[in-house]
Amino acid sequence: MICPKCGHLMRPKKEKNAIVFECPVCGFISAGNGNLKVSRHVARRPEDNVIVIDNPEKLIALPVDEDVVCPKCGNRGAYVQVVQTRSADEPPTRIYTCTKCKYTWREYT
Ligand SMILES: [Zn+2]
Ligand SMILES: [Zn+2]
Repeated sequence: MICPKCGHLMRPKKEKNAIVFECPVCGFISAGNGNLKVSRHVARRPEDNVIVIDNPEKLIALPVDEDVVCPKCGNRGAYVQVVQTRSADEPPTRIYTCTKCKYTWREYT
């Protein structure tokens, strides 16, 4: 199996319950049934993980920013957490949790 994109030899790879062929060079994936799809190899970054705050008592201890508007319900006011996600020389991420609907989102400063 030769990659139609870059001509490299593709490697068989088990995906779910089917075998697909994956190009180790450009990441092109050919499914065994003839359907071709391009796979984007997006490295999963740790900050993509959804932050779940399951303990409401922890939220109450957090400071509230009254200038923040919840993108989900439009409520003004959100609990703020400042988290250093990556290396220390990068700006920290602010995590907001709506005081009303508990929707949680983040903002990069
Ligand atoms: Zn390729
Ligand atoms: Zn809300």
